[in-house]
Amino acid sequence: MLLNGTIVYNGYSFGKAFIIKEEDIVINKNNINENQIDIEINNFLNSYKKTLKQLKDIRKLSSKNNDRKLLFDGYILILKDKLFKKDIINLIKNKLLYADSAVNKFINKQIKCINKIDNIYIKERANDLMDISKRLIYNIKNIKLIDFNCLNNNKENIIIISKELSPSQIVQFDLNIIKGFIVENGSITSHSSIISKSLELVSMIRVNNVTNLVKNNDNIIIDGIKGNIYINPNNKIFEKFSKKYNKLIIKKKNLLKLRKLPAITYDGFRIKLFANIGNNNDINNVLKYGAEGIGLYRTEFLFMDRNDFPSENEQFSFYKEAVEYMKGKLVTIRTVDLGGDKFLSYMNFPKEDVPFLGWRSIRIYRDRKDILHTQLKAILRASYFGKIRILFPMIISMEEVYFLKDEINYIKKDLIKNNINFDENIKIGAMIETPSAAIICSHLSEELDFFSIGTNDLTQFVLAVDRNNIKVSNLYNPLCPSVLNLIKYIVNSIHEKNKKIGICGELASNLNSVKLLLGLGLDELSMNISYIPNVKKIIRSSYYTSCKKLLDKILDQKTNKDIENILNKY
Ligand code: PEP
Ligand code: MG
Repeated sequence: MLLNGTIVYNGYSFGKAFIIKEEDIVINKNNINENQIDIEINNFLNSYKKTLKQLKDIRKLSSKNNDRKLLFDGYILILKDKLFKKDIINLIKNKLLYADSAVNKFINKQIKCINKIDNIYIKERANDLMDISKRLIYNIKNIKLIDFNCLNNNKENIIIISKELSPSQIVQFDLNIIKGFIVENGSITSHSSIISKSLELVSMIRVNNVTNLVKNNDNIIIDGIKGNIYINPNNKIFEKFSKKYNKLIIKKKNLLKLRKLPAITYDGFRIKLFANIGNNNDINNVLKYGAEGIGLYRTEFLFMDRNDFPSENEQFSFYKEAVEYMKGKLVTIRTVDLGGDKFLSYMNFPKEDVPFLGWRSIRIYRDRKDILHTQLKAILRASYFGKIRILFPMIISMEEVYFLKDEINYIKKDLIKNNINFDENIKIGAMIETPSAAIICSHLSEELDFFSIGTNDLTQFVLAVDRNNIKVSNLYNPLCPSVLNLIKYIVNSIHEKNKKIGICGELASNLNSVKLLLGLGLDELSMNISYIPNVKKIIRSSYYTSCKKLLDKILDQKTNKDIENILNKY
């Protein structure tokens, strides 16, 4: 069987299908009759036994990894607590609750108590309790729960198949075993896709009905060059793709030979190629692929897959490790950009109709100055050990710039008072990713040192098209007359003020548009590390003068199709 979809990360991937089907839990909040009490107690006790057994099995599988083993030891201890079972049974008996509702009520009460205690270790237990509660309720309702841990000892490579995957699920993957994923929904600029690129996970999104068409253990080949997926292919196809895979590895190795050469056109136009990263594991590849610095460190990913905010010292160690690794090369640290489609399990976010336009990014800082201050302190302290720039996301006004600069000055004063070293001339910049920032970029450049265009958000806001909504994905296109003309306006306005401007959205790694971006005269392009060699190769075989002509021609076009036709020709 052959399916197709949209490629997230290019390459080939092979493995056995592992299907994830998670259902929404609806708690039965009605009351039961007295004659149902025994039935519900039994339901609970059966689920309790099943949950305990599952946890013991997972603990066995996790025996090679001490952290995971300890986690499951902790779960088992919580379940075995005498009061745990007794209190839930009492809720069923005395409050006449269904078993799922009794578990839910009991656990929520425990979590509320735990959250009042100011101790990180104890707070972590709240997440464990939530996980246990989910397991118990799934078992009461006979719903199967996904367990990535159960894959850890798998002998064969795995391709995850799911309706969708969240960033926090992907960061849990053991990459020695999970070699890719295929999902029904998703979008190229979603954060799940961005993480998969940084993990070099050959994956596909928007594959219609894949969770129903594929069965567990089916053999899968992802052809992430053409956008095809082969289900249970015959040996001939398998051999063909094994050869292609080997050839691709050689091609990638050859491109790496450009690593130390500059990104410069035949006629001498020099542009810097930077890397986008989401954590320090990505850093190992930054220099290997020839990046000249880090143009976007999406620090919010450091806040995910954990149970509480990273402390100042923890963040300091991450940033210090990054600058030290980069050995004097620039590291652009973007302050935490939460909300939109990036949430934390341990932080309360309001339910919003349009989260991308809501309480997100720097807007959170006014209410949660503690988050901003902790991060700024950590970044400033690390700036003493290398070359750091601070980048603020989602700016829409000068008021925000004044506010953020005041906060930086406040933290600087505090550090000086405590005799803590930092780079006093640290550069401060903004993402241009809202139409408002684009329109006032000339004013912004009087207050800030550098800029980076976030084409992922800018496109969604200029076109009023949700970047994650599959229904309108055909309308989401940065290579359209309005976005491109706006980008040209931004670059010109900022260059007029002699400030630096780059692009760090996904457009920067679109191989079809490299010449067009060169024509804009940008100072930097920041992208997923693995695209750098390809982009550099294109730059080194281009003429800046002809790229400028190409840009002029493109900016004269009236439709997306016209632009696409011209770019394809080039
Ligand atoms: C962007 O919006 O283009 C960007 C780089 O930021 P993010 O994708 O993290 O929203
Ligand atoms: Mg953005």
